[in-house]
Amino acid sequence: MSDLLEVIELTKFFDMGRNQRVHAVENVSLTIAEKEIVGLVGESGSGKSTLGKTVLGLHDKTSGQVKFRGEVLPQKYQAKDFRRFATNMQMIFQDPYSSLNPRMTIGEIVGEGLKLHQNHDPSIVRDKVAVWLEKVGLHADHMSRYPHEFSGGQRQRIGIARAMILEPEFVVCDEPISALDVSVQAQVINLLGELKESMGLTLLFIAHDLSMVRYVSDRMAVMYLGSLVEVGKADEVYFDPKHPYTEVLIGSNPEPDPELERSRPSTAIQGEIPSPVNVPAGCRFANRCPKVMDVCKNITPQLIPLKDIERQVACHLYT
Ligand code: SF4
Repeated sequence: MSDLLEVIELTKFFDMGRNQRVHAVENVSLTIAEKEIVGLVGESGSGKSTLGKTVLGLHDKTSGQVKFRGEVLPQKYQAKDFRRFATNMQMIFQDPYSSLNPRMTIGEIVGEGLKLHQNHDPSIVRDKVAVWLEKVGLHADHMSRYPHEFSGGQRQRIGIARAMILEPEFVVCDEPISALDVSVQAQVINLLGELKESMGLTLLFIAHDLSMVRYVSDRMAVMYLGSLVEVGKADEVYFDPKHPYTEVLIGSNPEPDPELERSRPSTAIQGEIPSPVNVPAGCRFANRCPKVMDVCKNITPQLIPLKDIERQVACHLYT
């Protein structure tokens, strides 16, 4: 598989005034191959969504590059860039309640991208919307209804139709199931899997449910306080984590089987994630790491490949 997307030393800071800035994403490098699903995991506030939005140009880049099919994407998107790249890259948002405009009909919401970016005739837009509503498990006659008439799972299907109608090659799924009932999460995941197979999609799947990420992803990337700390094959990272943060993150992830969950020792992550405004020197995980060493407090570990195993880890235990 050749690389579809290349993220190279990407950094996104948000200026807060008074010489303060939020280090939301710092020096992240990651490649995603064609038709690959990469799961991006980490606690809330680790920078996952900011990374996804910066890759898509929804945030300007502070530094670094994103390449799509070898072409360097703009540092700062203009309207013409969104028009050009919207047909290649799309996003499915986390919250199916707030991401749909309540004043627009479902037909207008799903067909908006076609009108804006591909300038289609209204009858063609209508036909395509009908096809996509059926593809995501809704009905063509839902077109004239409004978002409030649908359940959370149905709204997420509408969000998926809105993203997919442009037939993008690359999609960022930003926690697409976290706002849904457990009973409908699997339906939405299965729908994404079917679309991935039928359309040959490449996905960056952002989530905090590690067992779900393991289920859907080819590779898993673990993010902590704006930086990647471990990248590898999803199953291998899940069952044999190398970075101490990945270990505790997986240990604290609820086990879907209630019997197993009751029998597991509690492995909650100790301490608080540091402020992204005052990022500590050295390893960012040092104040919470059960394996911390003196070197960790002064020298920042780099994400490096391990020997004899297809894995990248940023930890002094391996340097
Ligand atoms: Fe822990 Fe040190 Fe590795 Fe950071 S570099 S995760 S503090 S062992």
